[in-house]
Amino acid sequence: MGLGSFFKRNKDKEEEIVESHIDINTDDCNGADCEKCVIACPNNVLIKEGEDTIVRSPLTCKHCKVCEAICPNDCILVN
Ligand code: SF4
Ligand code: SF4
Repeated sequence: MGLGSFFKRNKDKEEEIVESHIDINTDDCNGADCEKCVIACPNNVLIKEGEDTIVRSPLTCKHCKVCEAICPNDCILVN
């Protein structure tokens, strides 16, 4: 289970890879059958993508850890 990464578009329109501080253990996540963290996140950081739950915009995360608290499988970690 490693930290995910995402693309950040900077002001020069070039993309750089940025480490995400939110880690979802996809082995334990129920994805689209659950979505509790997606619904609970007040900042729309997490989204459903197909059958999976993914981190869309980690830069808008406020570290409230509501997602951690609501996850029934303890499979999301905010570092
Ligand atoms: S810590 Fe809070 S803001 Fe960040 S992804 Fe979880 S619920 Fe959303
Ligand atoms: S609450 Fe947990 S099990 Fe449910 S979608 Fe989010 S990370 Fe996956």
